[in-house]
Amino acid sequence: MTDVVPPQVRSRMMAAVKCKNTKPEMVIRSGLHALGFRYKLHDSRLPGKPDLVLPKYRGVILVNGCFWHMHECQLFKLPSTRKEFWREKLERNRQRDLRNIDRLLASGWRVMVVWECALKGPRRGAKDTILGECVHWLLSDVEFASLEGR
Ligand SMILES: [Zn+2]
Repeated sequence: MTDVVPPQVRSRMMAAVKCKNTKPEMVIRSGLHALGFRYKLHDSRLPGKPDLVLPKYRGVILVNGCFWHMHECQLFKLPSTRKEFWREKLERNRQRDLRNIDRLLASGWRVMVVWECALKGPRRGAKDTILGECVHWLLSDVEFASLEGR
């Protein structure tokens, strides 16, 4: 199978997908903000610069794109070219995520992962439902939780 897009262009396209303000992240950010929650963004003092940090709740929320963070779900699909390159790269991302979560938990942070597929794609939930679950978790003392498409 041949790829019509030259590799350099392909990698720029992939990089564009990777921008920080991905839509699901903005949904969570603006939703929580509207509900009165305050957070720091991408705090570089913490492992992996977590997307949202809520010191008052000792909580960290990671909004993970299903492609870049290699979620085994309907939204994840390995590119059809350079499969091995992508598999290794994404597997490294996934291992790094797991290490960062371990470090956060070990230093007393609580962690919630909101997967992109919770808010996007055929198995997404209603925005208010997902936000409600985030709030419920923030107000709980549950150490680790993960939200994904049903
Ligand atoms: Zn997913």
